[in-house]
Amino acid sequence: MPAVPPTNAVPPPVVPPPTNAFADLLLGQAGREPGRRLLWGPDGTTWTYGDLDATSARLAHALAARDVRPGDRISVQLPKSAGLLALHVACARVGAVWCPLNTAYTDREVDDLVADADPVLVVRERPVRGVTTVALAALQAEAESLSPAYDDVPRSAGDPAVMLYTSGTTGRPKGAVLSAGNLCFGARNLATAWGFSRDDVVLHVLPLHHAHGLFVAVHVTLAAGGALRFHEAFEPGRVLADLPACTVFMGVPTHYTRLLSHPGLDRTAAERVRLFTCGSAPLLAATHEAFRERTGAAILERYGMTETHMIASNPLHGQRRPGTVGPPLPGVQVRIVAGPAGDSASDGSPGAAGVAVHDRGVADDSSSGATAPGAGEPGGIEVSGPNVFGGYWRRPELQATEFTPDGWFVTGDVGRFDADGYLEIVGRAKDLVISGGLNVYPKEVEQALDALPGVLESAVVGVADPDFGEAVVAAVVAEPGAGLDPEELRRLLRADLAGFKIPKRVYVVEALPRNTMGKVRKDVLRDQLA
Ligand code: AMP
Repeated sequence: MPAVPPTNAVPPPVVPPPTNAFADLLLGQAGREPGRRLLWGPDGTTWTYGDLDATSARLAHALAARDVRPGDRISVQLPKSAGLLALHVACARVGAVWCPLNTAYTDREVDDLVADADPVLVVRERPVRGVTTVALAALQAEAESLSPAYDDVPRSAGDPAVMLYTSGTTGRPKGAVLSAGNLCFGARNLATAWGFSRDDVVLHVLPLHHAHGLFVAVHVTLAAGGALRFHEAFEPGRVLADLPACTVFMGVPTHYTRLLSHPGLDRTAAERVRLFTCGSAPLLAATHEAFRERTGAAILERYGMTETHMIASNPLHGQRRPGTVGPPLPGVQVRIVAGPAGDSASDGSPGAAGVAVHDRGVADDSSSGATAPGAGEPGGIEVSGPNVFGGYWRRPELQATEFTPDGWFVTGDVGRFDADGYLEIVGRAKDLVISGGLNVYPKEVEQALDALPGVLESAVVGVADPDFGEAVVAAVVAEPGAGLDPEELRRLLRADLAGFKIPKRVYVVEALPRNTMGKVRKDVLRDQLA
């Protein structure tokens, strides 16, 4: 008798084909609409998504031929170009870890970071001792005759995809390793929050070795199938010339102050731009207001870190509040831990001093029996969510100091929520000044100084003082043509601030020391003023 198949046979499970979600994020539009415009390069190159697909496939074959394997690191130090973008995508397709280095780094700095990253390949003009180094042009020549089709190496969400060295205003740089899952979640979350579509054209003036220029500007645009207009660096005249052809501009605060000092900035220049975003450093409320007055556009300020992708953002629709970075993004949890430095990690109990947990901007302090810091009370900012990285490269000892025992990342920033769940960044915990045993938040003093007539901007630091432990000291920059008298500034501050917050000394300086992302180098300033 022929065998009768059982009627209740369970069909074999359907196993989805293995995928590489990060490569899919970057190249999704190539599958849907290969002819769609993707890029205007700084050298005049124009690329479609199909061009990126084919070029990155060829480079992926070239990397594979050089024995680059999934999980291997590739360090790159290259100027911004279409070729650099294709190499980034090729790295994702072979499943290697992309480790971009600041183009400003010297050979010695590159030697140190390459020794730390331990890559199988360095792509750079000048060789690095002890590691295989190839120039981008040479790699492109190897790739030229290879196939324009490539089967992406499957990767899972937890696999490392990018390692960025934190901008390191203090201490030895740390490699923050972000997984494919971190990057995909972060990019999609922002694309949705900021209403990105394939019709967007982003004016890209940021460096590609930093989270802002890479994770935010490039990944979000590619995830939405939009287009990028690359400028090699920020130049106000060129930005104003290209703005009418763009729908989104992403900048750091210095970009906005420089645009404001250009006579060409007006309503017509900004007319087609649906969204101006700002981050990486605090945007002065005065800059926000001046920009709105000149262009009619309200800059959307947001807050993120290399280690956490984006954390909070002012809304696309709804009120954008100057001086705040908006509510936490969907799916991202933010809590404020009482105590000046947010030092919960040191005693291992984040709830000990009281925790306010804000998830999706909704306040919920029920997780702690203690009193949560209310609106107006600053504390350490801690973050959790699919956006948060897993740890630093080969620095297991930092796991215990940079994460709480329940797995939240300690940002090192101090902030507070207002009554509506908008987050305000007060400063870095390590910048807090403790003078005569009293806490002084530099931002509060800076805001009071900035509001005085003739002051363009200011920075406040603590310097060692025999009497007070630390003394509050300020550096101020005058508005063009204004003369400032330090004693007069101290006298005027008395109307706004308690005596212990008044800087013991005020110095009038030409400019504040800043890094390339516009962050004030308080460590440098402290040394200068000490
Ligand atoms: P990075 O890892 O280089 O992106 O630097 C992240 C740090 O930049 C944060 O921890 C904050 O201290 C600072 N930062 C980023 N965005 C803002 C913002 N909108 N306002 C104030 N500080 C910011």
